[in-house]
Amino acid sequence: SKRAGSHGFTVYQPGMVDRRSADAALAGDLDQALDRDELAVVFQPIVDTASGRTLGAEALLRWEHGARGPIRPDAFIPVAERTGAIIPIGLWVLEQALAQAGTLGGGRYLSVNLSPRQLREPTIVRDVLAALARSGVPAGRLVLEITESALVDDGNGIAALHELRAHGVRIAVDDFGTGFSSLQYLTRLPCDILKIDRSFVAELDGSTEGAAVTTAIVYLANVLGLRTIAEGVETREQAAELRSLGCETGQGYLYAKPLSPAGLAEHVKERNPA
Ligand code: C2E
Ligand code: CA
Ligand code: CA
Ligand code: CA
Repeated sequence: SKRAGSHGFTVYQPGMVDRRSADAALAGDLDQALDRDELAVVFQPIVDTASGRTLGAEALLRWEHGARGPIRPDAFIPVAERTGAIIPIGLWVLEQALAQAGTLGGGRYLSVNLSPRQLREPTIVRDVLAALARSGVPAGRLVLEITESALVDDGNGIAALHELRAHGVRIAVDDFGTGFSSLQYLTRLPCDILKIDRSFVAELDGSTEGAAVTTAIVYLANVLGLRTIAEGVETREQAAELRSLGCETGQGYLYAKPLSPAGLAEHVKERNPA
C-alpha cells in the first residue's frame, strides 16, 4: 500500500486509511526526520500576566515533512510515543531548548515536554543531567512538563522525578485537570507547577460556572504550595479573570505564538526593558 517516493519519502496513497499503515509510514519517515534536518523547535513565551514580562518559554517540536509539509505534533507525537522514536527526539528537543538559555537570559526557565515513554526509560535521569551538564545551564532553569496520565501507576517515573527535583529541576503537570486520577495522586506527586489546561481557560466567560474548574485548581495549588500557569490564554478578558482568580502566569496567543529562536530573542528584548 505504500512505496518509496523519488526522494525516499513514503508516498501516501489515498487508500492508506487504516491507522496502522498510516502510522507505520509516518513512523518510518519520523525515524529519518532528524537526519534529514526536518525537525525544529519553537519557543512559546510564558509571561507574568500583570507586567507582561517573560518568565520562561516552552519548547515545542515542529516537523516539516519533506514531501507532505508541516505535520502537527498532535498527529506525530503519539506515533513517536508508540514506536519509541520520541526517546532520541525528546532528548534532541531538550538539547535545542537548553541551547537557547543564553537567548532567553535573565535566569528565565526553559520548559520541555517529557513524554510518558521517555519517563519510563531507565536512563532518563542520567540523560537529563548529562544534557544539563553539557549545556552548562543550571538545573534550576529547567522545567519538565509531564502529563497526569504519565504519572499514574508509574512508580519508576515518579522515582525519576524525585531524583530530578533533588537536582533542582522543576516539574510541571501539563494539561492539568483533564486526567481522572489527578486529585488522588497529586498530594504525593513530585511536582512544582500545575499547567491549567486551555479547555478550562476557554470556559472563562465571567460566570461562576465557567470559572469553576480554574478556581478549584488554583485553590488546590495554593493549598499544596504549587504555582499555576494558564495555557491557551487568547483574550484580555481571560487574562483579567485569571488574575482575579489568583493565577498570574500565562501562556497563549494573547502574549505570543510559538517563536523561532530569533523571534524569541526579539520578544524578550521588546517585553523586558532593562
Ligand atoms: P501542549 O504541551 O499542551 O502544548 C501547548 C499547545 O497549545 C501547543 O500546541 C501550542 O502551540 C498551543 N497553544 C499555545 N497557545 C495557544 C492558544 O492561545 N490557543 C490555542 N488554541 N493553542 C495554543 P502544539 O505546538 O501543536 O503542540 C501540541 C502538543 O504536542 C503539545 O501540547 C504536546 O503535548 C505535544 N508536543 C509538542 N512538542 C513536544 C515535544 O517536544 N515533546 C513531547 N513529548 N510532546 C510535544
Ligand atoms: Ca506542554
Ligand atoms: Ca499543555
Ligand atoms: Ca495539550
